[in-house]
Amino acid sequence: MKYRDLVIVGGGPAGMAAALAARAAGVEDILLLERDQHLGGILNQCIHPGFGLHHFKAELTGPEYADRFARLVMETPGIEVSLRSFVIKFTKDRDISYLRPGAMEEIRARAVILATGCRERTREMIQIPGERPAGVYPAGLAQKMVNMEGWIPGKEAVIVGSGDIGLIMARRMALEGVKVKGVIEIQKTSRGLVRNVVQCLEDFSIPLYFQHRILKIHGAARVEKVEVVRVDDKFTDIPGSVFEIACDTVLVSVGLIPENELLEMAGAEIDRATNTPVAPAVNLTSIPGVFACGNACKVYDLADWVTRDSELAGKMAAQYLKTR
Ligand SMILES: Cc1cc2nc3c(=O)[nH]c(=O)nc-3n(C[C@H](O)[C@H](O)[C@H](O)COP(=O)(O)OP(=O)(O)OC[C@H]3O[C@@H](n4cnc5c(N)ncnc54)[C@H](O)[C@@H]3O)c2cc1C
Repeated sequence: MKYRDLVIVGGGPAGMAAALAARAAGVEDILLLERDQHLGGILNQCIHPGFGLHHFKAELTGPEYADRFARLVMETPGIEVSLRSFVIKFTKDRDISYLRPGAMEEIRARAVILATGCRERTREMIQIPGERPAGVYPAGLAQKMVNMEGWIPGKEAVIVGSGDIGLIMARRMALEGVKVKGVIEIQKTSRGLVRNVVQCLEDFSIPLYFQHRILKIHGAARVEKVEVVRVDDKFTDIPGSVFEIACDTVLVSVGLIPENELLEMAGAEIDRATNTPVAPAVNLTSIPGVFACGNACKVYDLADWVTRDSELAGKMAAQYLKTR
């Protein structure tokens, strides 16, 4: 068994900030494991501006924000980065098994920071009824298809959910020539930033239907239309308010779930409602020497705050190692 001082799982903004802060606080042996082929995490697919206003006092795109950190991480002696390295097993004794091309590695860490981000909630999780045709995508997946793979998912889209991801994807699809027929939001207000409502919907004349929900998705092979209904303050359907929108694509943007399966595998306490670690303070977990940061710890709106809090996680891990 190989021993490492600090292992960080996840090379998004959280993992990178934690690595740099731990190094600055004196940890000399850091291994950063990232399953993707690049550092940067979700930022690599967020090609819109709006990142770094607080941390860098500059308006950057997601890849630009990620690149500033990735360069520093790669250049810093004492931080080893292992890409295409997928952690598949983790124990309370901080034993880690990960797959990398051509090998499975097993190591033991004196401290671990889990910075594994979030995954998207799906159509099934909010139980949108109807048929099951092609053309229904989580919005973040569609973002990856459009921005990284060069695929346009359809020609006429309806978006479910007016959080930032839904709003940004409405604009992105419109910019790619997709007719965005509307954003359907069950609440009375948007959870997204005001600037995104204005810049992503109003500037593109995309209708936003507050207090509405999709009653049914229709389509044999491909989505053909959605039925939409207005709801009252108790989320009860209002009789006579149903209308249809013809479309071939539905993007579902109804929230993120912190990815904490590794922590759960190790036996840590997890809050079932939020899928976040149960701990007395941010970045801690119920297992000594195991820390969590970034979207795995709580869902953040801004990468800048992910960076700020993850730097703290790096310092906390360094402090923990000094006391061992
Ligand atoms: C569509 C969208 C738009 C956004 N827009 C903005 C914006 O305009 N401005 C802004 O400031 N913020 C924005 N954000 C928020 C910000 O991007 C996120 O809060 C931030 O990226 C979270 O960072 P993270 O490192 O915690 O997670 P992630 O970036 O998701 O990184 C997690 C990393 O962990 C890796 N990983 C997971 N599990 C494993 C494993 N088992 N083994 C190895 N690696 C693993 C993943 O591959 C990933 O690289 C946006 C987010 C989204 C989704």
